[in-house]
Amino acid sequence: MSETGAPAGDFVREQIRRDNQAQTFGGRVQTRFPPEPNGYLHIGHAKAICADFGIAQEFGGSCFLRFDDTNPDTEDTEYVDSIIQDISWLGFPPPQPVLFASDYFEQLYTWAEYLIQQGKAYVDDQDPETISAQRGGFGKPGIDSPYRDRSVEENLDLFRQMRHGAFPDGSRVLRAKIDMQHENMQMRDPIMYRIRHAHHHRTGDTWCLYPTYDWAHGQSDAIEGVTHSLCTLEFDSHRPLYDWFLAQLPLEGPAPRQTEFARLAVTYLITSKRTMLQLVTSGTVDGWDDPRMPTVAGMRRRGYPAPAIRDFCSYVGLTRTNSRHDIELLESFVRRELNTSSQRRMAVLRPLKLVLEGWPRQADGSPVVEWFEVANNPENEADGVRQVPFTGELWIEQDDFAEVPPPKFFRLSPGREVRLRGAYLVTCTEVIKDDEGQVVEVRASYDPDSRGGTAPDGRKVKSTMHWVSAPHAADASVALYERLFTHPIPGERTGNVMDDIDPHSKIVLTECKAEPALAETAPGVVVQFERLGYFALDPQQPLLFHRTVGLKDEWAAIQKKAQRA
Ligand code: ATP
Ligand code: MG
Repeated sequence: MSETGAPAGDFVREQIRRDNQAQTFGGRVQTRFPPEPNGYLHIGHAKAICADFGIAQEFGGSCFLRFDDTNPDTEDTEYVDSIIQDISWLGFPPPQPVLFASDYFEQLYTWAEYLIQQGKAYVDDQDPETISAQRGGFGKPGIDSPYRDRSVEENLDLFRQMRHGAFPDGSRVLRAKIDMQHENMQMRDPIMYRIRHAHHHRTGDTWCLYPTYDWAHGQSDAIEGVTHSLCTLEFDSHRPLYDWFLAQLPLEGPAPRQTEFARLAVTYLITSKRTMLQLVTSGTVDGWDDPRMPTVAGMRRRGYPAPAIRDFCSYVGLTRTNSRHDIELLESFVRRELNTSSQRRMAVLRPLKLVLEGWPRQADGSPVVEWFEVANNPENEADGVRQVPFTGELWIEQDDFAEVPPPKFFRLSPGREVRLRGAYLVTCTEVIKDDEGQVVEVRASYDPDSRGGTAPDGRKVKSTMHWVSAPHAADASVALYERLFTHPIPGERTGNVMDDIDPHSKIVLTECKAEPALAETAPGVVVQFERLGYFALDPQQPLLFHRTVGLKDEWAAIQKKAQRA
């Protein structure tokens, strides 16, 4: 894999190069991204999107978004809209028109009749359980359905009646007639159509007969002229069926080819739409875009930049073996991107009042305000500078003060001098407590000659702290997140992911103090709070920040440890 995150010469790209050389598809490259609109997209889908859209771009081909909307029970237009939005946000606005497998229902039906006429499909009157039991298993022979040898005429008649609503749900199916002794279970007369009297999000009540994934997928690829149909490894065993269906049909030109790559799995994240739905409906998280969710919408709300997600997907690459990546790797990509893209700000999460003794006052008695010029991003000069107000009444972090400092605590404590970043050196002179003995305020002297934060005599202080001017502070809330799950492979211990939920994965602090520039931050923007980490402003709620990631790169530590071992 390349260090720069550029796509490595993976086996899929190699294959496409070979196809182009051999003119297998006349040099054309056309892919598709085929989500089922039954949930929001997650990090795994992001990998598939980067592969499908990214590869098409690289080879000067095209990639369409096609909704695999063959199951009316679970699909919803809310999901359609969110999927289009998420793909666009990831950096791949899908070309128009957006496609739907349901647009091909008529063609698929016509082809099904064609297969019946060829003696390659039959109506089975057995219930789904019986059919499933008769399929047998590995080393276990399949059993032919008693309806397997129906005449073409009878099959056609029954199939047409199925279409026109003559039969109840589950009473009959259409099956491909392949081989009940095939070593691949997918080839043992798979189901092509089920009867389902249900309203479909696009076709309404036109159909009461819905195609299975296997019957819809390859044929939809063929209709659209897809050349390379990329999917995840679990479809490996479906490939012979994919090819079989296409081989039976009167198609012009080369049939599309399916290629499988490993699913993305990341520690502490789940990539199952069913589990995500469970988390949402049970109220365990605050919706699909909860910043703890592995959804694209959740990552966006949390402040993960799209380029970081793309770079991560590119780095993990396309392989043929399933593996799990450390979440710290993903976070490292996020941090790396934010380090250059996000501006620095000061905010205090758990405020403690710091009053400077002898701070000058104006004629009207109000404290003097000094404005310090501060770089917005030391990593990026183009981000310019801003003015930050400073007075003798400040907010500092409770954590940055200790009345009795433990060993190695170099921040503020009685008699100790510290630097207020970019402002002055201050020395703690007094601690003020309430009736319960809680520290409510700290007083300090300041060195007027240390303006900008350096002492004229060059004396050293061990600690630099952030601060916010109290009279100028904006009130803010901050949501701190831990991992949603306590186990790196959620559900592995007990078989139930819900057993691994961390009930304290979200803590909201509502009394935070932010420098005034933060009140003008645009919704969704990510900033670095000095010393604390990266925080994304909520897209809707003013002055609510979500912690994106901390500052420390844990991935670097993991790599070092691995190198030593
Ligand atoms: P379900 O089985 O619940 O429908 P799915 O994850 O297969 O979920 P789809 O909407 O069918 O969801 O997926 C769309 C595309 O995304 C498919 O091509 C699928 O292979 C790919 N995909 C899904 N999950 C992952 C993953 N974890 N890693 C990489 N690609 C994925
Ligand atoms: Mg699927």
